[in-house]
Amino acid sequence: MNIQIDNKDFNLLIEYDQIKKRTRLIGIQLNVDYDNRVPVFIGVLNGSFLFLADLIKEVTISSEVTFVKVSSYEGEKNSGKIKLELGLQMDLKDRDVIIVEDIVDTGATLRFLIDKISEQHPSSVAVCTLLLKPKMLKEAIKEITYVGFEIPDEFVVGYGLDYNGLGRNLKDIYRAEYVPSET
Ligand code: 5GP
Repeated sequence: MNIQIDNKDFNLLIEYDQIKKRTRLIGIQLNVDYDNRVPVFIGVLNGSFLFLADLIKEVTISSEVTFVKVSSYEGEKNSGKIKLELGLQMDLKDRDVIIVEDIVDTGATLRFLIDKISEQHPSSVAVCTLLLKPKMLKEAIKEITYVGFEIPDEFVVGYGLDYNGLGRNLKDIYRAEYVPSET
């Protein structure tokens, strides 16, 4: 299925049904891995809000949820600057932290966040990301433990992810149609 957002063409990449199934499996794994612990899920706004909402419903162990907000892409280009716009609202000392991301691309945002969180001396830090672009990762990040889907290096939108602020409400995930450059 093809759609248009802000005059740009996108086509279907991952259906919500697949996302739901994968999320259920990750939830089961988290329940096993964090049995007898009370982890803190830290959702990275804005993109992770739908994924975190679905994921947390699959988590049956006792847990807490909080959010951070970092500056991210403008349009399709990374602005290069990472800023904490909404800081950590909780004391994370001796806590088991699970960072919940929508997508890991170069890994720069995640590196920045892991370093910030580590300053508070948590017991453990793990990352759960819905999407990962393995080819784009600039360095291996050992904290990435739970991955929904590995995707090619293409710009995606939907299920929380935006294009120019639009498309976060789409249930499925779409990829930008390739447009050959004119030069
Ligand atoms: P990184 O720092 O890993 O390069 O980028 C992470 C952030 O960039 C994500 O949290 C997301 O906000 C944004 N991003 C990276 N790739 C995409 C993409 O394909 N689509 C959208 N909508 N955002 C992306």
